[in-house]
Amino acid sequence: MRKSTSDEPAAGSSRFAGLNRPWSQDVDAVVAFFDVDPGTGLSDTEARRRLREHGPNRLREIQGRSPWLVFLTQFKSLIVVLLAGAAILSFSFHEWLDGSAVLVVLLVNAIIGFLMEMRAEKSVQALRRLGRTLANVRRDGVLHRVSAEELVPGDIVVFEGGDVVSADIRLLTASRLQADESALTGESVPVVKRPLALAADTPLAERFNMLYKGTALTRGSAEGMVVATGMDTELGRISALVETAEQQATPLEERLDRLGRNLIWITLAIAVVTALMGIRSGKGILLMIETGIALAVAAIPEGLPIVATIALAKGMHRMARNNALVNRLSSVETLGATGVICTDKTGTLTENRMTVRYYALTTGDVDLLPPEEDGTAARTGEPAVLTSDNPGLRRALEIGILCNNASLGSTTSASASPVGDPLEVALLQAGEQAGISPEELRTLFPEEREEAFDSDLKMMASYHRTDEGLRVVVKGAAEPVLQACTTRVAPEGVAPLNESDTSHWLQRNEELANEGFRVLALAEKHTDDLREAPYQGLSFVGLVGLVDPPRADVPEALRQCHDAGIQVVMITGDQPATARYVARAVGLIAADDDSPVLQGTDFPDAETIPPAEAERFRRARLFARVTPKQKLQLVSAHQEHGTVVAMTGDGVNDAPALKKADIGIAMGLRGTDVAREAADMVLTDDAFATIVAAVEQGRIIFANIRRFVMFLMSCNLSEILVVGLASSLSRELPILPLQILFLNIVTDVFPALALGVGEGDPAVMEDSPRDPGEPILGRREWGAVFGYGICIAACVLAGFVLARTWLGAAEMRRTSIAFLILAFAQLWHVFNMRGEGSHVWRNDVVRNPFVWAALGICAAMLIGAVYLPGISTALKLVDPGFRGWALIAGLSLMPCLLGQAVKMIRGMLASRGEGGSA
Ligand code: ATP
Repeated sequence: MRKSTSDEPAAGSSRFAGLNRPWSQDVDAVVAFFDVDPGTGLSDTEARRRLREHGPNRLREIQGRSPWLVFLTQFKSLIVVLLAGAAILSFSFHEWLDGSAVLVVLLVNAIIGFLMEMRAEKSVQALRRLGRTLANVRRDGVLHRVSAEELVPGDIVVFEGGDVVSADIRLLTASRLQADESALTGESVPVVKRPLALAADTPLAERFNMLYKGTALTRGSAEGMVVATGMDTELGRISALVETAEQQATPLEERLDRLGRNLIWITLAIAVVTALMGIRSGKGILLMIETGIALAVAAIPEGLPIVATIALAKGMHRMARNNALVNRLSSVETLGATGVICTDKTGTLTENRMTVRYYALTTGDVDLLPPEEDGTAARTGEPAVLTSDNPGLRRALEIGILCNNASLGSTTSASASPVGDPLEVALLQAGEQAGISPEELRTLFPEEREEAFDSDLKMMASYHRTDEGLRVVVKGAAEPVLQACTTRVAPEGVAPLNESDTSHWLQRNEELANEGFRVLALAEKHTDDLREAPYQGLSFVGLVGLVDPPRADVPEALRQCHDAGIQVVMITGDQPATARYVARAVGLIAADDDSPVLQGTDFPDAETIPPAEAERFRRARLFARVTPKQKLQLVSAHQEHGTVVAMTGDGVNDAPALKKADIGIAMGLRGTDVAREAADMVLTDDAFATIVAAVEQGRIIFANIRRFVMFLMSCNLSEILVVGLASSLSRELPILPLQILFLNIVTDVFPALALGVGEGDPAVMEDSPRDPGEPILGRREWGAVFGYGICIAACVLAGFVLARTWLGAAEMRRTSIAFLILAFAQLWHVFNMRGEGSHVWRNDVVRNPFVWAALGICAAMLIGAVYLPGISTALKLVDPGFRGWALIAGLSLMPCLLGQAVKMIRGMLASRGEGGSA
């Protein structure tokens, strides 16, 4: 075999880096080149050695913006322009100290902005890395699930429909395999794949025996060998791809940005008017221009979007810790407005820990009660399946094992655990319990062909070589399997399956489903022709009932949804009776609720559900035998009603519904890669309770963002009012420009940030879902902003007047007192941001350690500003004296106390109102 030549694709220097045109070689040649036995795969040691040699299987690292770039962008803002203007002005008036101080403020502003942005950027990048792709790899003869980054050339990878291909692969076997290669070739129609060798000059788009990194399998199953990894793959070579961590602004950040931009003009106008009025009333020109600039800087809420990013990123981290990985920052805010959660059944509401419990066979029933409930089994110490003398049982067990893609893992390796669909794992376990070794059986009846599971047909089949020919084994949902059967297995051989038999078995299927079993039908036939269609002329063997316990945390999560006004809808591909049983078991519907389960057949053929019928679909809680296309119709029906829809999905066909839903949720454990890529959120534990916890986080984050916006706005407004009123009414300014800058750039930031990252108030789950179009600050919030702003300004002005009349303080002491009242009032004001209806001191703001840290830092900085020689000179602050401090303490606490009193009165009135209405 020829190795590297000059015309071969760019390849690394390693031994296995570049097999020339693997598509033109037959399977044996490829296997020989990579020196591996496909039956056992590489050994662990060899795989580790190759990993060292070839490096991890990834394209280049995600590159974020460089810290320098982030730092430089800080100087692009309007605030910097204003500050630079102020500094130049001061220098031109020979006010060297003032000018330098403004420059320091400018630098501090840039550094704080830089640190916050770096933190946001880091969080977002770290979150991106969490969503790793996994691959099923055979090593040392056992199927393992490893991170796709660990794939090495020569690895044997097992695929099924829905997987994303994470390295370049030469197919060894394939069944009904189709791949979507649009990411690589631009061709949107899925391509059929098979392992036969092709001509050496076959173009990329026609290399049907290859799978390429970055593409996805839409159906079928396959086994293949890794021929290139990382930058040696086609994707790595053609695109020299560098993933940028550029994050799109989320709607919320955009809204905040818009709010900020709108306020800029109002602010600038106010600043100009204030400056002009001050100059007219005889104050210094320089002082008033600087005051105008300081006011503009104070009131422009430039930091809002970035604090929002930090709040969103913090929320994403919290969600990730709680098993919900959010792909996009914007989804965090949408989550909070979720009105309907459409969830599937298996694995989300149930544990997906299946066990075979019942065989209803044409040769009689076998009940596999667990030992503690089953006297017989307990007596013999063996499961019923071993003691049964039912003649059809062995056949049923064999079909379960043969028509199966799962693996129980190695019996010798402690680390290997079962891989594959839990339903199929359960069938293997049942076989093994009965003394049939899956490995031996598979060797005895080697597989020649497989018809992969198709969620539309709801069946799968496989063909196995026997001494007499081929044995075709089928398993699937009862209705389609029975439809494909013409005979049934009987003790004496086979008997015809007439109509009454069929309805008898459909009835038995219904009975088992009513008892909560997930039911599968089994059938088989013999043939000599490998090309014979699988689903015809089958012989019916019987039904298998599997149990899957409901998840223990679902009832509580459902109760939370109920309180939070969120409607929960179950959508399953399973049958109605099983759906109803599980819904009752978890409390999704009441035990006596007999309202009909809507079925796939109830959906109209049209693309969308007509408005006249939509209400019926919106009200229904249970949907069974629903196809992915119908999920899409249901999402639209809810969205047209203005509801934010969260929808779970795991299959390839679910991808459109996941994209259409406002929050598409994919399953991390059992979902396909395709679903994961289409989703906005991935659950690493597949649990329903995780969705509800994520919605709660979404609500908390919105509430946090609303709070810090309110906080910053009311603080800024108080400054505008103080300076604006003083400029027009008095000859003196109570607060000086640099002091305003100090407050805004240094002290306001920390409490606002602390509010943004708070743990939140659990009471957020007691309100109904927020209207997605609701502004960040509604009329009520604006009212509060004005109320607080006026209150703080009044206290500062009162303090300024009292300092002169009561304390007889000189000008510098008066402004120091006014400044400190304003600063501390703003700090205490953070406690006014507690949730409506929360306890005065047992609330989430008081519990938030960041708030206390922020208060500590800010108080220390304020004291430092007064008593540290250099800074106090620059800020023109002097010791207010004991009586001065008393005045500061009293007046600065006033807005907080007043705010709390108003909240308490409102709370009392509200609870009395509720009591009255109740
Ligand atoms: P759920 O909501 O319970 O997760 P689903 O929507 O995932 O269900 P599917 O997995 O599409 O439903 O299954 C639909 C039907 O197909 C099942 O009721 C079962 O009868 C059959 N089925 C499921 N898995 C297999 C399989 N591996 N082999 C054969 N038949 C299967």
